[in-house]
Amino acid sequence: MIQDLHSHTYYSFCGKDTPESIVEAAIAGGIEVFGISDHNYGIGYSRIDAFNLPDSESIHGTYERTLRRYFDHINLIKEKYRGQIEVKRGIEICTLHDGVSFKVHSLPEKEDVSFFDYCLVENLDSSISVTKGDLFAYAKRLGTPLVGIAHTDMFAFIRSRGEDPLEYFSRMAADNIFWEMNVSYDSIHNYRIHRYMVDFFDDEEKQDVVRRSGVRVSVGFDGHRVEDYLPERIKEYNDKLTALGIKKPFES
Ligand SMILES: [Zn+2]
Ligand SMILES: [Zn+2]
Repeated sequence: MIQDLHSHTYYSFCGKDTPESIVEAAIAGGIEVFGISDHNYGIGYSRIDAFNLPDSESIHGTYERTLRRYFDHINLIKEKYRGQIEVKRGIEICTLHDGVSFKVHSLPEKEDVSFFDYCLVENLDSSISVTKGDLFAYAKRLGTPLVGIAHTDMFAFIRSRGEDPLEYFSRMAADNIFWEMNVSYDSIHNYRIHRYMVDFFDDEEKQDVVRRSGVRVSVGFDGHRVEDYLPERIKEYNDKLTALGIKKPFES
């Protein structure tokens, strides 16, 4: 089952395309399970007045309404393309704390996202992450059936906490937390490719720890421009996971 659980549409400030055009590119590229995972702040503050004045009384409730509107749109798309591709309703959660410069980026404390199929969490390893490094508590707060950790070198993160990788990954598996590795070449975030992802696919010892722990791994494109999309690359990395005996999040 070829999966790509990391993509962005015009609901993200850094995205530009309609969800439909991105899903159609995925169908054309032979992807079978496709997750749309727009940035929480892009969706939540899609009204520019809300972005500029996040504390204003007059926009109270906007965040919740815009999250629901996004979810409903992705839900319609899921129905529209049923039988051609399985669309998953996701959201990427920025966890940088509500300091002065990141005021509007993290998820407001009481905002409910549990109705999404999954969340991707980013900035887990940042010293100013609202998770304070406690992945398991934060995943519970999000409340989605699955939670993925994106843009994070999990081996380095686990080591920095003085914990044992096999135990930590096993606990992730038990709590339905997967590791999302993006294999992106997107033109918005400077065609970055994560070094840890390349290392992982090169390192048999790490692969063995991940396989034994039972933690699920996804490989996504993190696309922000439909013209950047390389489904062949996604398929190649899906096949690598299968060959390694590592399961993907929505596999039975
Ligand atoms: Zn982005
Ligand atoms: Zn992303």
